[in-house]
Amino acid sequence: MIVRKAFKFRLKPSSEQSQKMHLYCGHGRFLWNKVLSMNLERLENKHKLIWYFEADYFSKLWKKSEEYGFLKEAPAQCLQQKLKDLDKAFKDAFDKKHPLKRMPKFKRRGLNDSFRFPEPKHIEIKNRRIKLAKLGWIGFHKSQSIEGTIKNATVTRCAGKWSVSIQVEQELSQQAHPADGAIGIDLGVKKFVACSDGSYFDSVNPFKKLQIKLAKAQKRLAKKKKFSENWKKKRRKIQRIHSKICNIRRDFQHKLSTHLSKNHAMIAVEALKIKNISQSNRGTTENPGKNVRAKSGLNRSILDQGWSEFKRQLKYKLEWVGGVYIEVNPSQTSQKCSSCSNIDKENRKNQEKFCCMSCGHEENADINAAKNILAAGHAVLACEEGALATSKKQEPLNVGDLVSV
Ligand SMILES: [Zn+2]
Repeated sequence: MIVRKAFKFRLKPSSEQSQKMHLYCGHGRFLWNKVLSMNLERLENKHKLIWYFEADYFSKLWKKSEEYGFLKEAPAQCLQQKLKDLDKAFKDAFDKKHPLKRMPKFKRRGLNDSFRFPEPKHIEIKNRRIKLAKLGWIGFHKSQSIEGTIKNATVTRCAGKWSVSIQVEQELSQQAHPADGAIGIDLGVKKFVACSDGSYFDSVNPFKKLQIKLAKAQKRLAKKKKFSENWKKKRRKIQRIHSKICNIRRDFQHKLSTHLSKNHAMIAVEALKIKNISQSNRGTTENPGKNVRAKSGLNRSILDQGWSEFKRQLKYKLEWVGGVYIEVNPSQTSQKCSSCSNIDKENRKNQEKFCCMSCGHEENADINAAKNILAAGHAVLACEEGALATSKKQEPLNVGDLVSV
């Protein structure tokens, strides 16, 4: 099996290189915003969108013009990559299966500044230095060795620091998963993960923890004169808090997804839960939903948890070690009794407690849901694998054998 991985390092550019990188980010942003605004106008007038090849043709014309000739300064492949990214953003926006059907947005200076070298021939690495087209050799903090075939490199700027993310391809031999247990997990707000074996992991809510700090910093920023040196200093501080939030979340998610995927050969989770919850209480114009404000707070919290990112990590990490990742239909997993399968709205007394109206089974509501998810996961596997069609029992399954078939 071939997998793609990325190694991220902090860059140590000279001031001249740093200036150039700022410039390349700016040119990429300019091109993105220009084509995006053309496309948004076309959408409004119900005209066909400009896709990559046409946009690339335009960008070549612009490079020759006096007005936009500055675009020539940036490496051509980086600009082309930006156009390809925009293409993908539009395709995602119109994709019915995509969880977040969001229109691409205008890029702002200082927000996710980046540019990518899509081809390995423009990237060279020697010891602790990387050579990038038009930028030359740049030193970087080599915190780990880079293994695999280099595919591309992306330079990003976050909280005032430049980093490079080097994507590689590695050949992994397909082996059987070392563990053989299966687990169902329920993703939630308070408990980030509740497992069918009764264990759970509380969420770190970096946003809430740092919210006070952030609010203070924003207050201070508001008092400063806009674009003054002090204002810039305070704004950098805010960016640092944001990047801290981002790091804490990423760290937590990676540790947890590694832990779960190492210890379980099969993991079942609910599909598309984000969409379900986000839309549940919005209601319609004739029948407006209740607690819309409370729900939007909940939504923010959900987004804060980054469920979809977590599921993505679980999936690829399981695949790396030869495990199985299954998404199941989320309907009624929270109302169904994991002991007697009775489905009743009344079963779920409140957010915390599950009490079956039929058999009296009592359990933490999230753990009960996780057990149902595991059972549904087994059912999916049984359908996929004819040999297992007769086994409906909830005993651990040797998924290692399944995979090697
Ligand atoms: Zn029951």
